[in-house]
Amino acid sequence: MNDDPRPGLVAAARCFYRQGWMVGTAGNLSARLSDGSFWITVSGKAKGELQPTDFIRIAPDGTVLEQYEPSARPSAETSIHQAIYSLFPEAKACYHVHSIEANLVSRFVKQDFLPLPPIEMLKGLGVWEENPNVAMPVFDNHLHVPRIAAEICDRFQKLPPSIPALLIRDHGITVWASSTAAARNYVELVEYILRYILEARKVGIGIPAVY
Ligand SMILES: [Zn+2]
Repeated sequence: MNDDPRPGLVAAARCFYRQGWMVGTAGNLSARLSDGSFWITVSGKAKGELQPTDFIRIAPDGTVLEQYEPSARPSAETSIHQAIYSLFPEAKACYHVHSIEANLVSRFVKQDFLPLPPIEMLKGLGVWEENPNVAMPVFDNHLHVPRIAAEICDRFQKLPPSIPALLIRDHGITVWASSTAAARNYVELVEYILRYILEARKVGIGIPAVY
């Protein structure tokens, strides 16, 4: 398969693991193929040491199409990837990581959005405005992951997000993009912005409407 995205997913996971964003088995990455199915990380594998066989191919309806170990299970958060792919037909990759910064910053807001600082890095997420007034959607974490996925579908159908990223409170970020390379960039950009918000708070710089 010459459009096999798994080597790119393995490389991204190793990079995120080294950043401390996919510690242990945390987080999950997926990439969608032209037939609508997607490869997603299996549950319970160390993200710093993934192999191309540590993925399961899933149909849009959730049916398992291809797997290497009979006992393997798709990521526990597969329903969120399904939600993102159904909402955004142009999305070809969906990446989800658990950073300390995302967990801390998600506690700064009680409302369901996080205002973002109007910094240059927003351009990388597609925001090309002078002094942009942009927020990242925030969702509550639920033990039952399909409930998170349903809330994402429900809100985004009514109010599409202005950036391709969301934050799950006390949990982590999810981004989606038209390629695996872009998704990797988006994770890095969003994590940069979250670090900025954390550092800004430490030195007493407020982000408008956040503090
Ligand atoms: Zn997660």
